[in-house]
Amino acid sequence: MSLQQLSLYNFRNYRRLEFRLPQGIITIQGDNAQGKTNLLEAIFYLATTRSPRTGSDTELVHWLAWEEEPIPYCRIIGHVQQGKEEERLEVVLTSQNGKNKGRRTLRKQVSINRVNRRALDLVGRMPTVLFYPQDIALVDDGPAIRRRYLDITLCQMERSYCRTLSHYNRLITRRNALLRTLRDERFIGDQLAYWNEKLVEWGTTIMWERYHLLDELDGLAGERHRQLSNGEERLHLIYRPSVVLLERDAPDEVPFPSAMSREMLAAGFRRQIARYQNEEIAAGMTLIGPHRDDFSFRVQGRDLRLYGSRGQQRTATLALKLAEVEAMTLRLGAMPLLLLDDVMAELDAHRRAMVLGSLAEAEQVIITTTDWSVFPANSIKEMTRYRVAAGQILLLT
Ligand code: ATP
Ligand code: MG
Repeated sequence: MSLQQLSLYNFRNYRRLEFRLPQGIITIQGDNAQGKTNLLEAIFYLATTRSPRTGSDTELVHWLAWEEEPIPYCRIIGHVQQGKEEERLEVVLTSQNGKNKGRRTLRKQVSINRVNRRALDLVGRMPTVLFYPQDIALVDDGPAIRRRYLDITLCQMERSYCRTLSHYNRLITRRNALLRTLRDERFIGDQLAYWNEKLVEWGTTIMWERYHLLDELDGLAGERHRQLSNGEERLHLIYRPSVVLLERDAPDEVPFPSAMSREMLAAGFRRQIARYQNEEIAAGMTLIGPHRDDFSFRVQGRDLRLYGSRGQQRTATLALKLAEVEAMTLRLGAMPLLLLDDVMAELDAHRRAMVLGSLAEAEQVIITTTDWSVFPANSIKEMTRYRVAAGQILLLT
């Protein structure tokens, strides 16, 4: 799988970009604030319909478009080659209320081969793994970012996961509304029964998929981590679903029991929902389920979020990302597109060599850097080199 051509219109600091991408390792050098991260952000957005760094799509539209154009918009188009097939993927974000009139809102339109599709149909067409310095937040930030990470990874690998997740998220919104009504009207009937069954059905699927992904990543990341830390430490990724934690009444310590079956998980979920019904109504909110899940990074049994040094957290994140690439390759039968945003600078020589080594097999990799010196001299001749300045990309010869 490779991205052959990328076109950007008004995306961040790219007013117009037409970029033909070769296969293999593409390196893009640029000073600060020239458009390195923006370029990778655009590609990641096309792959997942989400920005890795902002939840607010309005930031993605070029400032000048908001000032100069009657209907501000931005557009990302990618031509993706998969074997002999080529697909044209497109996302357009268009202002719904013209320019600058009060709060800015955007409409997201997705098309595949010029046919309008839902956003979730786009996900998985161009499997992509992004490494960037903010990945460390996966270890040291709150659970929401880790759930999002699992979801984006799974959605890119399993179409059905993405659909189930979208059903589940809508269900939570509607169930919460119903819980608030029950609270306010002080009336408890069996209206919840239907929603509870759906909650168990979709929620169990989500937990089950997350558990299997983490189990796979645990093995792969553990091995990568051993190499990165010269065999001195063992990393474990431990799934902590809210349902199972409640079940055991020992919130911090219990991992997902490996002997648990899908049926046991569903039964446990059903029990918890019955047990917490009154609390849920009082809170007007769904309190148990995969929207409350988490996972932890443990080294020698200790949670890196609480006890890890900065270096240990970085090593664990890198191990996870390398594992993610392997897991995707195993499941999809082809390597994903790799995007590395300025990550070489913060790695020591051993880790740089490991990262570059793992890229050797990749069909296509895009690496940005401020400084060529991060690459060992003998690796440079195998790369196609570009320079980015003020939203323009130039091939270097
Ligand atoms: P660094 O090396 O510091 O990470 P970078 O090359 O990755 O730099 P980017 O994050 O890609 O830089 O940002 C490039 C420029 O794009 C910045 O000057 C930023 O202010 C600008 N920019 C961000 N959003 C927009 C937007 N909506 N419209 C126009 N320019 C924008
Ligand atoms: Mg950057």
